[in-house]
Amino acid sequence: MRTSSLIARRLTELGYEVLTGDQVCKKDSRMGVPSDAELEKQYERAVSQGADPEFVERTRGGMTGVIGILHCGEGPIVGMRFDIDALGVFESESMEHRPAREGFASVNRGFMHACGHDGHATIGLGVAEVLMQIKDQLHGTVKLIFQPAEEGVRGAKAIVDAGHLDDVQYLIGSHVTDNKEFTNGEVVVPGCHGCLATTKYDVLFKGQAAHAGGSPEKGKNVLLAASTAILNLYAIPRHSGGASRINVGTIHGGSGRNVIADEALMEIEVRGETTEINEYMSEYARNVLNGAAAMHGVSCDIKVMGAANSMTSSPEMMARIRRVTEEDLHMKVSREDSLHSGGSEDVSYMVNRVQEHGGEASFMRLLTPEAGPGHSRIFDIGEEALPTGVKIFCGTVYDIMGTER
Ligand SMILES: [Zn+2]
Repeated sequence: MRTSSLIARRLTELGYEVLTGDQVCKKDSRMGVPSDAELEKQYERAVSQGADPEFVERTRGGMTGVIGILHCGEGPIVGMRFDIDALGVFESESMEHRPAREGFASVNRGFMHACGHDGHATIGLGVAEVLMQIKDQLHGTVKLIFQPAEEGVRGAKAIVDAGHLDDVQYLIGSHVTDNKEFTNGEVVVPGCHGCLATTKYDVLFKGQAAHAGGSPEKGKNVLLAASTAILNLYAIPRHSGGASRINVGTIHGGSGRNVIADEALMEIEVRGETTEINEYMSEYARNVLNGAAAMHGVSCDIKVMGAANSMTSSPEMMARIRRVTEEDLHMKVSREDSLHSGGSEDVSYMVNRVQEHGGEASFMRLLTPEAGPGHSRIFDIGEEALPTGVKIFCGTVYDIMGTER
């Protein structure tokens, strides 16, 4: 909320038309939204930590997306996406961890920028500044989309459902990526493929508590249902069309040693190499969960907490990014246009929407040294990726919208 309010303030100062709150995300399309009590607590924290007083009000209730629009007359509509959220990770306090040593580690224990999205937000604001400086040399419309809740793939769909990608003809997104396998000074991979489609579920089993010694037959045991479900989730038969994944990440349940457990919550996810394979895994998983619940006479509530589809970058856009980076910016591009990714990304909703309408979209990888694995306590990025990222975004936008091309 604080981050969103400061981004909105900066874009306003620069002269952008700024959308916030329910102008950005369709409220009911958001997934995995925290409880009202938690949102209110975070709102108060944001205010106490120096959020912009005008804009933070509009983030209340978790409406943390921001869009900056720059109108430069007739011409193409170009969108850029920057994710701005953090992770529930305890940041290392070791002096070997540069953010701790230099005093820019997280001030909120248990929350950390362990995936570089603070860098992405910074690149977005850098792009905003540069494009405003050269706006007289552009024609068309720029949309800078600052997206909340990429982690857990919960935020992009709400922006797409609000219609913001419907008229976008060109879309660029990026993520920082460790450069250790790129030894020739490459700064970017122009696109990606193989991002897994995924669905995240919270599964709540409810049964009946009873005395485990005196009258166990009166109980309905959710732990039996949950453990039956877990073993059978991992036993889902394979799909011939490609890779799939299943994971039961957490389970919390039961209330005491001598009590038949009456409530259990599991966090699970399925993934597939294609949207179709993910659908297959999702449907099978729901059948397993409902079947396991029925076996033991308990109820099972399955709630979607996040989702993303598979995506492939457009060849035309990858070629444009390569040409601009090599010929105009004189920086090195990876030999391959497209990086295979085993993760999931909800920018896929935006990429797919733009491509469905005949537009071009790419999700590029900005290569930089990383101090530890993504989502770990010692994660940190080489900050040379920030100016490099700004140059590649702006160079590519100029290539599409510039008056002297
Ligand atoms: Zn990330």
